[in-house]
Amino acid sequence: MNLTNINTIKDLFARHGFSFTKPLGQNFLINPSVCPRITKAATAPSGKEGRREGLYAFEIGAGIGVLTKELAKICKKVICVEIDESLKPILAETLAGCPNVEIIWGDVLKLDLKRLFKEKFNVPAVCSSAEENEIIVCANLPYYITSPVIMRLLEERLPLKSITVMVQKEAAVRLCAPPGTRDCGAVSAAVRYYSTPKKLFDVSRGSFMPAPNVDSAVIHLDVRNAGDDVLGVPQSDEAFFFRIIRASFSQRRKQLANPLSSELGLQKEAIKNALSAIGLKPTSRAEELTLEDFAELYKIVK
Ligand code: SAM
Repeated sequence: MNLTNINTIKDLFARHGFSFTKPLGQNFLINPSVCPRITKAATAPSGKEGRREGLYAFEIGAGIGVLTKELAKICKKVICVEIDESLKPILAETLAGCPNVEIIWGDVLKLDLKRLFKEKFNVPAVCSSAEENEIIVCANLPYYITSPVIMRLLEERLPLKSITVMVQKEAAVRLCAPPGTRDCGAVSAAVRYYSTPKKLFDVSRGSFMPAPNVDSAVIHLDVRNAGDDVLGVPQSDEAFFFRIIRASFSQRRKQLANPLSSELGLQKEAIKNALSAIGLKPTSRAEELTLEDFAELYKIVK
């Protein structure tokens, strides 16, 4: 069954009485070249061409299973979370020939992902070496939960190799923006702390049914090993490090001394002195700091 053929899709919808639920970000891929391309990027060995067989894949949002089927061709096992149970009869039909796929019905933001991974992929809750990280995340993400999903996947230190996801084009630019640049925000800083992000390619709005009002892009995050302390921030204190970053970007146009004093109750003078001590202007704004600068600031503030 060709899941990017409009007549096939319309027939599926008519036979199973399915209609789109817009608030769930249901824009299904109908461009036949996109799913193979995302899958290829998701399954490539780090920094190399080709693909790795035998990976475990975690997908968010099956829709009618167009990406799920593509992943199932290459991966050992595909676990996919889908919130909309009205897709059940459709997926039962479209994924009938994929015994290595399991759909979990629920909200990805409410599931205990650590437990799910342990149960379904039979891996330790936290992996310490790259070799062990056999799990990839691959998805055409529902746009309304882009940042919370990515942050959950990263912050929980799940044993992931990489995350390859379709997001809105503007979100792709923001998520991949390096700290110290205009597009960077608290989420981009966090993404860069936990991974090496890269924007891969754009996907036009006409590639979806129904077509959204914006274009999209696919990004790839190469996830750091869970055992790594990054920039000298102990893992046990990451929450405080990110409080500083979030507070800094909460008023991004203002000098750092303002948001940090109002959000964290620190003395403005002390913050200005700390910025000078690490070689920055006391009048610096959040978007002028690199991740290394934030780490130095964290060490002094602490
Ligand atoms: N993978 C399919 C494709 O590429 O055509 C569908 C992608 S569509 C952009 C997003 C899918 O995520 C929809 O099927 C939607 O029902 C599902 N979804 C939305 N919110 C969700 C949530 N909180 N948890 C799990 N799935 C969700």
